[in-house]
Amino acid sequence: MDIHEYQGKEILASYGVKIQRGYVASNPQEAVAAAKQLTADTGTGWHVIKAQVHAGGRGKGGGVKLAKNLEQVEEIAGQIIGMQLITPQTSAEGKTVHQVLIAEDVYYPGESEPKEYYMSVLLDRAKGQNVIIYTTEGGMDIEEVAEHSPEKLHREWVDPKIGFQGFQARKIAFNLGLTGKAEKEMEKFVTALYKAYEETDSAMFEINPVLKTSDDRIIAVDAKVDLDDNALFRHKDLAEMRDVREENPIEVDP
Ligand code: ADP
Ligand code: MG
Repeated sequence: MDIHEYQGKEILASYGVKIQRGYVASNPQEAVAAAKQLTADTGTGWHVIKAQVHAGGRGKGGGVKLAKNLEQVEEIAGQIIGMQLITPQTSAEGKTVHQVLIAEDVYYPGESEPKEYYMSVLLDRAKGQNVIIYTTEGGMDIEEVAEHSPEKLHREWVDPKIGFQGFQARKIAFNLGLTGKAEKEMEKFVTALYKAYEETDSAMFEINPVLKTSDDRIIAVDAKVDLDDNALFRHKDLAEMRDVREENPIEVDP
């Protein structure tokens, strides 16, 4: 079962994964209230308005936009809510946007350049082990990386008998070229991400991009989470995240 970005981030945050914070809104007035609250929480004046639909590639389709003041928040939220969002991952008709996430701008300038990575956790069926797939080539389509620069894709398998180990977290941070504070933050990030994936019995967690901010924090800017349908009976709270509006009407069980 797919869930929305904001729901995936709620799960991540509950496991201690740092996220780009935000509030969900269903109309422009709620969007402005959310932006005000977010400014009070974070101190940032710029906000990113993100369409909440079960499809990736929203940025490319015009479903992710930066607002530099409250007027722009209201205007952009008004444009995105209710639109048919067409992305490389939707059908030709696109998907109707019912909600937006008003998220903090985390690409602020500072000591170092912000940098985007890619990271996902899923089951490698052939090996019968979970695998963490990651690359320095974040923010873009992972299929493109796999096709054009496969040497940049790293995989770290987890032995189910011993679980995810500290040396694996260190190896991942090292392969991503991180040092100092960012390295330590990445180790914490991947450890918490793996725990979230495992304890929710998920089918996939994909974080693209994982962002290193200009002050060397590591945070999930996006979250694509696929919960395992067969395990949802064990997770009533997660089962409630279902959004039937996103499902093909003929596939929805009555
Ligand atoms: P999707 O994968 O559906 O396109 P993302 O959440 O990954 O949606 O956002 C798409 C892109 O938008 C990101 O790769 C990032 O470069 C950009 N983006 C997201 N949040 C911000 C932000 N706060 N400031 C600037 N750019 C952002
Ligand atoms: Mg993304």
